[in-house]
Amino acid sequence: MIIMKFGGTSVGSAERIRNTAKIVKSNAKKRPVVVVSAVAKMTDALIMLANECREGKGNSALEHIKKIHYGILGQLGLNNELLEHDMAELENLASKSKNKKSDSRLLDCFQSFGERMSSKIVAAQLNKIGVKARAFDSWDLGFLTNSEFGNAEPLEASHARIKNSIRKLDAVPVITGFIGKTENGEITTLGRGGSDYTAAIIGAAVDADEIQIWTDVDGIMSTDPRIVKNAKTLDKISFAEASELAYFGAKVLHPKTILPAMDKGIPVRVLNSFNPKNKGTTILKKSGKNHRAVKAIACKKNVTRINVDSKRMLGAYGFLARLFDVFAEHKRSVDVVSTSEVSVSLTIDGNGNLEPILGKLKDIANIDMAKNKAIICVVGENMRQIPGIAGITFSTLGKDGINVEMISQGASQINITFIVDGKDAEKAVKVLHREYFG
Ligand code: ADP
Ligand code: ASP
Ligand code: MG
Repeated sequence: MIIMKFGGTSVGSAERIRNTAKIVKSNAKKRPVVVVSAVAKMTDALIMLANECREGKGNSALEHIKKIHYGILGQLGLNNELLEHDMAELENLASKSKNKKSDSRLLDCFQSFGERMSSKIVAAQLNKIGVKARAFDSWDLGFLTNSEFGNAEPLEASHARIKNSIRKLDAVPVITGFIGKTENGEITTLGRGGSDYTAAIIGAAVDADEIQIWTDVDGIMSTDPRIVKNAKTLDKISFAEASELAYFGAKVLHPKTILPAMDKGIPVRVLNSFNPKNKGTTILKKSGKNHRAVKAIACKKNVTRINVDSKRMLGAYGFLARLFDVFAEHKRSVDVVSTSEVSVSLTIDGNGNLEPILGKLKDIANIDMAKNKAIICVVGENMRQIPGIAGITFSTLGKDGINVEMISQGASQINITFIVDGKDAEKAVKVLHREYFG
């Protein structure tokens, strides 16, 4: 059995859906389990609709959502009836939410319609070309989550339920990525880009032979191809390397995707639905022989750097615990940490809603904060054995006048991570890519 997850661009138009269905058909013998994202940009449109409703504005987003979906149905020769129930439910939700305060629970409900509709279209197209298929909302196969709306985690009990439900099917399941339900029946989402994570969870649950992530580039590349045009596709990388890259901004994989696959040792393959013959990137336990020290460079923008300085408290036990408790209380995860004898520097994702955290931190230390920073992460397992990479990295940046503010190397020693100003981020990636990949 294989998992085939198709992202937004792979189901972004009638033509793309036809193509995706063909790719599934050509893998029919491998017993595919299909996981789909919403039609490209649809999650953004649904969030816009939720905002319009909150502000009591007209439903221009709703019209757009209908136009795109009905347009695709028309071009595929499918009947509008396929989505009528979902559209009526969405319309009802929109009218009930007019002028109401929106929260992450309501937002998840709005967002769920993207995947609920795309899965039905893909299943219908598969049936049309002779592949017996059936659309499922993930919860109908037992995909349950906790109630952390906007960032939900699957419940342990999901695994056995998913395995059981899928085993009984006599058609190719086309399952909604990104969304789940709590035990109380409330809809949740796994966070933006979360369909990759759904695919990995389902893959681990059914002990799949492979988890395939079909996207719009040839695989995992040496860096974001939107920043460096000649970024190179990587043949193989390790779970550890892929994890670091995904965590530090390589959008091609949701950061949580690797864990379920790694736990079960299931290879993950990133493939291009626009170029299906290409063999893509395989993510394995060990990436095998490759003499390159640096495999790839990731970049994550819109990061806030906080320097914490407490001459009184540092060295006193319990200080770091108190410090990190503040972030835990506010559910903000700390990405990069670097400490010296008298200060701690750390970064958190995003630039917004920092006042409550800063208020608490000021009670225990002096704080200096800077927004709009970027994390750059240079990744490669061979860096452990090859000396001098840190030297080359920082002198390359220095030659180009890029100031590095904070440096950190994890215990695994497979990455060098540092902070630069947001305005220097792309330049830093470009000069390092030129240095390491030519
Ligand atoms: P999907 O809709 O298929 O989930 P995403 O947009 O989430 O696709 O992810 C694919 C995109 O990730 C690529 O188009 C590319 O711009 C971006 N990306 C960022 N870093 C990398 C990288 N190192 N390798 C490949 N793609 C990357
Ligand atoms: N549709 C969701 C998003 O745009 C999930 C995904 O595409 O993986 O974030
Ligand atoms: Mg994605």
